[in-house]
Amino acid sequence: MLAPAVTRVQVLIITIIVFGCEPATKEKQSFDSFPSLRMVSEVEPLEEFIEAHVGKIKPMRKKASLAYWDAANTGNLEDYDRFSKLQFEIRQIYSNPEEFALLKDIKESGRVKDAILARQLDRLYNGYLKNQIDLQLLKRIVDLSTEIEKNFSTFRGTIDGEKVTTNEIKEILKTETDSVKRERAWLASKQVGPVVAADIIQLVKLRNEAARKVGFDNYHTLSLTITEQTVAEVDEIFDKLYESTNEPFAKLKLDLDCILAAKYGIAVTELMPWHYHDPFFQESPMVYDLDLDGYYKDKDVRELAVRFYAGIGLPVGSILANSDLNEREGKNPHAFCTDIDRQGDVHILCNLKNNEYWMETILHELGHGVYDKYHDPKVPYLLREPVHSFTTEAIAMFFGRLSRNPAWMEQMLGLSDQQRTEIEEVSRKYAQLKQLIFVRWAMVMYDFEKQLYANPDQDLKSLWWETVEKYQFVKRPKGRNEPDWASKIHFTVAPCYYHSYVLGELLASQLHHHIVHNILKLESDENVSYVEQSKAGDFLREKVFEAGAVYHWNDMIERTTAEPLTTKYFIAQFVE
Ligand SMILES: [Zn+2]
Repeated sequence: MLAPAVTRVQVLIITIIVFGCEPATKEKQSFDSFPSLRMVSEVEPLEEFIEAHVGKIKPMRKKASLAYWDAANTGNLEDYDRFSKLQFEIRQIYSNPEEFALLKDIKESGRVKDAILARQLDRLYNGYLKNQIDLQLLKRIVDLSTEIEKNFSTFRGTIDGEKVTTNEIKEILKTETDSVKRERAWLASKQVGPVVAADIIQLVKLRNEAARKVGFDNYHTLSLTITEQTVAEVDEIFDKLYESTNEPFAKLKLDLDCILAAKYGIAVTELMPWHYHDPFFQESPMVYDLDLDGYYKDKDVRELAVRFYAGIGLPVGSILANSDLNEREGKNPHAFCTDIDRQGDVHILCNLKNNEYWMETILHELGHGVYDKYHDPKVPYLLREPVHSFTTEAIAMFFGRLSRNPAWMEQMLGLSDQQRTEIEEVSRKYAQLKQLIFVRWAMVMYDFEKQLYANPDQDLKSLWWETVEKYQFVKRPKGRNEPDWASKIHFTVAPCYYHSYVLGELLASQLHHHIVHNILKLESDENVSYVEQSKAGDFLREKVFEAGAVYHWNDMIERTTAEPLTTKYFIAQFVE
């Protein structure tokens, strides 16, 4: 999805922190969709623990979700305070050292043989593990990251002594053709770096301290482990992606550079970081003539989404009945989806306009929505959530991509063949450009952040530019010696998360390939729109949504597509 928006990230953080589960007692007997090899006498202490834990956590989690929902809708400080307070109370439960010790004992004894109970134990254990930080250290971490965030939100860069907003900088980078003015805008976007860099390094060290106390090398390793990943497996995926995108990216970037250089009246060799259309070269510059908004302006994107999801057999009426879709003063200007109670009360927040961006966004958020909505209610509460943040991102991306799919647009918007051909030409190019630029940028984030946590005392200014040059083929400005990495807010608000966006794209492509060839039984994905294809919706519901977190993410993917997560379908779809 686009440039990962902070607000979407925030919701993910909330769901990561707010673990919970429900008494499974009356459900257990009838629970027969998934493997069970239970030996009651041996696991009783765990079942008792889960029941008590659930009794506490379930209502708290629901209250916290509702408080966040209120806050996002009203912008009221009291709602935000209520949310933070509840979040802190939940966190306190997960920081209990005696309960963690008990879970650790049970886990290490290896005596839980029942697959469903073992999965609940794993999720619980990870939930406790990440919160085993003493309160004093936790407070220092929270205070410092709040301080950094505040500096980010109040700092304004300057151009010729005049303060400028982020939006003004973005506008200049999108439209200005004078290189000097572009350079000044880009420099203004980096001025926050020196203000926050030392604090971020300190925050990294505190997070590392917390990670070491529970036996990890550093916070990066801990973060991946508690989300059931290993550094080695993510490295392997990124290495493959790097190798297979090197040449295509070089070619595509050269084409792009030629267009940009001509536009600015300079030589290709003179292109600098400020010649791309955003401060980090993470988005595709709009250089080809494509205006998709025109096709949506007389349509109702909400109605299109409702009709599409109904046709695919995943009705969203009950989600939209509880959602808030229109712009309003004080309301969060972005979009997110939240599962309030893991019992079907799912809300999305949007600020709809009838254009392509909001068509994509509502399809995306409803993708999260149907994943949450269609969990099997018989799955124990603790496992009744997407197995990983990247798997729900994948479903959201799978559906979000349709807003630019020519076949989908033709059918849903009633376009002529000619209109469809026009879109086809350019939208394919943009889809490639967007995906390649984004994955190469995400490689910078993943690699740099890993090294940041491994050694926060190294020369990070140089490391950043070496990483940018390696992956993005963008030159370090001569003599530049500033902490340009620190102007990216994600290091503070969404640490060690960026790779999830990439894994989400990979899985979206893998699911697409599998559904096209094995479920719809087609030779290729040409003309595939998914419109009225309830087989596709049924498949996703049965294989992905209903299972929740019953299987490890890679087991779920293998059960669904007959192979573990792979880069090859993303490569085939966007790179070759
Ligand atoms: Zn999303």
